Amino acid sequence: MSLPVVAIVGRPNVGKSTIFNRLAGERIAIVEDQPGITRDRIYSRSEWNGREFHLIDTGGLEFGEQDEMMDHIRNQAELAIEEADVIVFVVDGRQGITGTDEEVARMLHRTNKPVIVMANKIDDIKYADNVYEFYQLGFEHVIAVSSIHGTGTGDLLDEVVRHFPEPSEEEYDEDTIRVCLIGRPNAGKSSLVNALLGEERVIVSPVAGTTRDAVDTPFEFEGQSYVLIDTAGIRKRGKVYESVEKYSVLRAMKAIERSDVCLIVIDGERGIAEQDKRIAGYAHEAGKASVFVINKWDAVEKDEKTMDRFKRKIRDEFQFMHYAPILFVSAKTKKRVHQILPMVSEVAEQHAMRVPTSVLNQVIQDAMVTTPPPSEKGRRFRVQYVTQVAVKPPAFVLFVNDPELSHFSYLRFLENQLRQAFPFQGTPLRIIMRKKN
Ligand code: GDP
Ligand code: GDP
Repeated sequence: MSLPVVAIVGRPNVGKSTIFNRLAGERIAIVEDQPGITRDRIYSRSEWNGREFHLIDTGGLEFGEQDEMMDHIRNQAELAIEEADVIVFVVDGRQGITGTDEEVARMLHRTNKPVIVMANKIDDIKYADNVYEFYQLGFEHVIAVSSIHGTGTGDLLDEVVRHFPEPSEEEYDEDTIRVCLIGRPNAGKSSLVNALLGEERVIVSPVAGTTRDAVDTPFEFEGQSYVLIDTAGIRKRGKVYESVEKYSVLRAMKAIERSDVCLIVIDGERGIAEQDKRIAGYAHEAGKASVFVINKWDAVEKDEKTMDRFKRKIRDEFQFMHYAPILFVSAKTKKRVHQILPMVSEVAEQHAMRVPTSVLNQVIQDAMVTTPPPSEKGRRFRVQYVTQVAVKPPAFVLFVNDPELSHFSYLRFLENQLRQAFPFQGTPLRIIMRKKN
């Protein structure tokens, strides 16, 4: 299921990035921060009252050539109109309405998507009446906020969440493996889609799956149902902004959300880019299984060490995703393309795997005996009991004497013990601590 998208729009200096950072700060508690994940300044997953959503600061988007401020704002508004479910239109609550605000308002009036005006910089109650002026912009909701102090953000989010579309029904049955290909433009995603669907034993369904803004491709391979998520976004080109790198990140995020397994396509010829890391980070944080697919391997000049060197580089650059298998393929020559679907099926199975509680506890207790956690001020971290509470991804609750005594490195050690004991290849694991009373 795809998460709602909230876009922040407005002229420069009204406080878009300040409010973005504040709202992005309220991150989902169970997603622990891990070293090596690049935090994005303009995209985030956030949560309010149990509703998760994507947040974009369109002010941080780069649209290539245009330097004109107005062109830039126009592009932001267009992207928001096209992609967002709710638009937050930020204005300076102290300065009042400017000509540029009016221009933005005119553009936003062309959509029937909900627009909430956020009158920012209302740091003091004495400015509270300033909000009335902004009703002249012609939108129903104006909320006074101070992004710096955090006041009004609750009211803002209440209003935002109220306008979310109803959560859509699960489109495919539980046994269907949902796969997406993500990566930079020109990494070879559409070529790989064609190569995969063109494989001999792949039977593509004549009926495409269509959702609100995506076209999926269902198919079967060796008796297993799959669906390629949002291949239209990959295959159909044309719109100007499809070439915008930042735009493709948003596409990728939506596709990731709806998938079980993400194929992270990397251009073997050009190497790893910052954007690859960001996209991989989303897949990891969203709890999806992942496989690295290094494409264009035909075009890489190589000796017998090249592949190992590239693997090491991947492990180095994507430390948070140490679990994901790596394949070297060529969409052009089809070399090793046949390995992709069996790998997808394997990691999907592990992503959905449940392990018996008794064995689980045995593994953790053994680990704690052979490698006891370091003691702190005479007290030692102890895990009393562990149980698996979810799949896709597998999530474990550790009941512990005191969560404060735990160390990131020791939790990582326990995770590795789980990975050694059970075949959790390709999937992130979630470890949640609870204090045992
Ligand atoms: P953007 O260009 O719209 O992304 O604006 P920024 O977030 O960079 O903010 C522009 C300036 O306004 C910065 O100096 C911020 O510190 C300031 N600012 C943002 N929010 C507030 C606020 O709520 N109150 C006050 N007083 N200043 C703010
Ligand atoms: P996308 O933007 O990620 O969908 O990338 P495309 O599939 O459109 O491919 C971008 C370019 O890379 C095209 O010119 C392809 O012909 C080329 N390309 C894709 N896969 C391969 C490959 O395996 N080897 C080589 N040499 N070129 C490839």
